[in-house]
Amino acid sequence: MALDFEKEKLVEELKKRKPKKVLVQLAEGIKQNSGEIKKEIEELGIKVIFSGETSWGACDIAIDEAKSVGADLIVHFGHAQFIETSFPVIYVEVKDILDLNSLLEKSLEFFKDYKTLGLSYSIQHRHDIDKVIKFYEEKAKKIILSKKKGTNAYEGHITGCNYQGLKEIQNQVECFVIIGNRFHSIGATLAVKKPVFLIDVYNDEIKTMEGVKDEILKQRIVAIEKLKDAKNIGIIIGTKCGQKFGSPEKLIEKLEEKEKNVTIITMNELTPEKIMNFYKIDVFIELACPRIALNDFANYPKPILTSREAEVALGEISWDEILEQGLL
Ligand code: SF4
Repeated sequence: MALDFEKEKLVEELKKRKPKKVLVQLAEGIKQNSGEIKKEIEELGIKVIFSGETSWGACDIAIDEAKSVGADLIVHFGHAQFIETSFPVIYVEVKDILDLNSLLEKSLEFFKDYKTLGLSYSIQHRHDIDKVIKFYEEKAKKIILSKKKGTNAYEGHITGCNYQGLKEIQNQVECFVIIGNRFHSIGATLAVKKPVFLIDVYNDEIKTMEGVKDEILKQRIVAIEKLKDAKNIGIIIGTKCGQKFGSPEKLIEKLEEKEKNVTIITMNELTPEKIMNFYKIDVFIELACPRIALNDFANYPKPILTSREAEVALGEISWDEILEQGLL
């Protein structure tokens, strides 16, 4: 299927900036569309190289890769900008063209007890939001979009690591509705106290996140207890330019006060295999994407904590405070 992206913006920006060679980063689901993007850019007389590395978010701008192949600009597809970079980048949003009507109809059964809904969406669905709001308003629902906060580019937009915009409206709504995928709705349920529902446009289902939070919280408590008892701790500093969550210096100081052996490790992308190689380390604290510790823990051979969870283990903040603030 042809990709629906901001073609005019891309062409206009490329004509204005006149790069000689660009490195193109594609989000995972659209790497299959490299052919049509290549053609579009080459027609402007610009050389194109595609990054074969993963591109999970706008936190991950491939500046080193671009420099190593002599590119003078990065074209990043599929995410909205949320960090300033020292290297020129064009962000190109991509639309998921889907007919949401039957799913919206189906969702009404789930929302029958709620009048005011907080609404958030992942970036590929921004073009549908006015229609979604109109649909619910015609069914006598009041819709409040989450606020534009932190890494979120628009009102209602969410990224996987910033839910502040939802927290700001949670006292005004009875539940949250997320248009997108499970990743964003799990993040939302970890961040807010109100019920969260996912309009899962990829599996054509409405899902409640009830129960998901408790399951994750139980596992997080286990990880925190493991850090308290562990002797050898690895602190992983993520090298992706937009993944800086927590300060290693403060953590090292506090861990050493508790007589732990601390090893500092850099990693661009965390994988279970890379972690396994440091087999003498008992527990890891990662300062890269917080969703790795919170969601992917089952894939890893050792416990991995976020820096905030490490602060709980170190007695810097209580678990109740974390629950009050939200895990994300
Ligand atoms: S840090 Fe993680 S959750 Fe946040 S945008 Fe990057 S990949 Fe997504």
